[in-house]
Amino acid sequence: MRHFDFKDGELYAEGVALSRIAAEVGTPVYVYSSATFERHYRVFADSFSGMDTLVAYSVKANSNIAVLQTLAKLGAGADVVSGGELARALIAGIPGARIVFSGVGKTKSEMSDALDANIKMFNVESLPELHALNAVAMQKGVRAPIAFRVNPDVSAGGHEKISTGKKENKFGIAWSGAEQAYAEAARLPGIEVVGVDVHIGSQIDDLAPFEAAIVKVAGLITRLREQGHTIRAFDIGGGLGIPYGDNGRTPPQPSEYGALVRRLTADLDVQMVFEPGRMIAGNSGILLTQVLYVKQGEDRDFLILDAAMNDLLRPALYDAFHDMEPVCAPGPDYTSHTYDIVGPICESGDTFAKGREMPELSSGDLIVIHSTGAYGAAQSSQYNTRPLVPEVMVRGDEYRVIRERPTVMDILKTERLVDW
Ligand SMILES: *Cc1c(COP(=O)(O)O)cnc(C)c1O
Repeated sequence: MRHFDFKDGELYAEGVALSRIAAEVGTPVYVYSSATFERHYRVFADSFSGMDTLVAYSVKANSNIAVLQTLAKLGAGADVVSGGELARALIAGIPGARIVFSGVGKTKSEMSDALDANIKMFNVESLPELHALNAVAMQKGVRAPIAFRVNPDVSAGGHEKISTGKKENKFGIAWSGAEQAYAEAARLPGIEVVGVDVHIGSQIDDLAPFEAAIVKVAGLITRLREQGHTIRAFDIGGGLGIPYGDNGRTPPQPSEYGALVRRLTADLDVQMVFEPGRMIAGNSGILLTQVLYVKQGEDRDFLILDAAMNDLLRPALYDAFHDMEPVCAPGPDYTSHTYDIVGPICESGDTFAKGREMPELSSGDLIVIHSTGAYGAAQSSQYNTRPLVPEVMVRGDEYRVIRERPTVMDILKTERLVDW
């Protein structure tokens, strides 16, 4: 069931008309469906039913604390990549025991905070990081539970900016050095080895790379155990793709992914940890925006929106495709028109779509940019001194503003004129 649907010719988020949110909160604004978040989480978690698993939602996909709270209530854990995300997860009610900490550049103060929160494990990405963590843990008189993020050197396809599991990527410990890294960790008094971690990329629409990675890591786990290490957790990372509607390919269903993991890890005797981000959040949100102007160019027409690349970076950063449609369904005999759809920012990259066919639109019309619940608001900035785009969460026929639109004075509050 879709939760962004037309009723009487108008697009709704669950039971709330998007035109109402536009009138009351203003545009641009992200609108999330709590029912969709819940459904995606359940579908994902249920595909591993009966297995010992932890679903650690990847906070960076959509880090709003109300989103984390919604998932926490269902039992979700969190995969965090900074001290800031750790704070968000804890405030939202996710217990430390369900938090894993990923990322290539954790600082000592972030390590310290995570140790204080008794997190489940650190996914360590280099030997220098291992030694820093050992020092922080020893100072506290504790042992830091770790997995190494190993780089299985499998190609996951997708855009080069979201592929992470090849040996030329900055992520993880090289496959050939993995066993040595574990031997090193075993010698450190502030470190407790508990698992193995991989994350091979994002927006993966084929199960083959997951299969290749799981088979390789299963072999590594067997060898590590033979070498005397205790491996209780196998963190397979995130990366399951979602349909954006651009390439005609359908990503695998979570149930197919679940069946694959079940088959390949049945005899491994580990807790499987998953870090889904996009799969949970991507289609749980839309960006609601208004047409400011229709500009007739020399060889093409432009729709100039009030949303821009600072609000939604994906098209500029990854050449990402997003479906768009008007909030008011066009009549049966509408004419369509081809537009370049752009934002107001002074960058040619501020383009959401080129040559996109849409019903003919005019100034003041509302449109939605679909599939923007993940890597949308979380990547937004105040470039061009455009206040951060607000976020709204819908539940049934109610909604709440879960991030307010700052005023320009809010933005300027942290800046100082110099006194010389
Ligand atoms: C980004 C990221 C994820 C989430 O990826 P999705 O494609 O959104 O599922 C999970 N784990 C790590 C380490 C990441 O960097």
